[in-house]
Amino acid sequence: MLIRQANCRENDWSLPLEPVRLGWLTHSVNLQMNGELAAGYKSASQCARVVTEYWAEHNLYCPNCTCPSLSRLNHNAKANDFSCPQCKYWYQLKGQQTPIRNSVPDGAYETMMNVILSGETPNFYLMHYHPVTWSIKNLMLIPHFAFPLSAIIKRKPLAATARRAGWIGCNIDLTRIPVEARIHVVTEQNVLPEAEVRSQFRRVKPLGEIGATEEVGHSMC
Ligand SMILES: [Zn+2]
Repeated sequence: MLIRQANCRENDWSLPLEPVRLGWLTHSVNLQMNGELAAGYKSASQCARVVTEYWAEHNLYCPNCTCPSLSRLNHNAKANDFSCPQCKYWYQLKGQQTPIRNSVPDGAYETMMNVILSGETPNFYLMHYHPVTWSIKNLMLIPHFAFPLSAIIKRKPLAATARRAGWIGCNIDLTRIPVEARIHVVTEQNVLPEAEVRSQFRRVKPLGEIGATEEVGHSMC
C-alpha cells in the first residue's frame, strides 16, 4: 500500500495563480487554467486541448481512492484521457465553453455503445470554462457505472458533403444519469471539498453493483 501511494505524484503548485483553498483541505482545485500554454497553437481545439490537459494533470484527483492526482494516458494519443496511478480507474475530461445543460456531445455512437456494453466506460469529468479568461466555472463528475445505454443518443449521420460523410456521432443525455451520480465538483466557481466528492462517489458506487442503471454493463476495477 505504501509503495502504491508513493507512486502518486504530489500536486504541482507551480501554476501562475494561487489555488483556491478551502479551510482544512490539503489539496484543492485551482479554477484558473494557464492560457499562455495555448501560445503557438493555431486551431481552437488544439488550444483547448493543451490548456485543459495540463490543468487536469495538475488538478484532477481520483474520487475512487485517496490518490491526489491523475496521470495522462499517452499510449494511444487519445486526448484528455487520464488514469489513477493507484486504483487504475480511467477518466475522460470533456471541456466546453458553454454551460453544461442536459446534453453533452460525445464521439462516435457505435464506439460509445460498445464501450458501455463491454463494461469499459470511462469516468467523465465534464468541464465548463470561460473562453477568454480560461477560468473554470463548473465541473461535473459522472462515475462510469452510472451510464445506461439509453443515455447515449444517436445523432444524424454527417452529410454527404462533410469531410467524414456518413459518420454518426452521439450525445450524452445527462437527464438519463441518476441525479445523485451527477457530482458537482465545481458549481459556479464554488469548489466542493474533496472529501465530500469522494463521499458522494462512494454513495453511488452500489449503482454499478446492483445494476440500478438498467441495461448498463459494468466492471468495477
Ligand atoms: Zn484511484
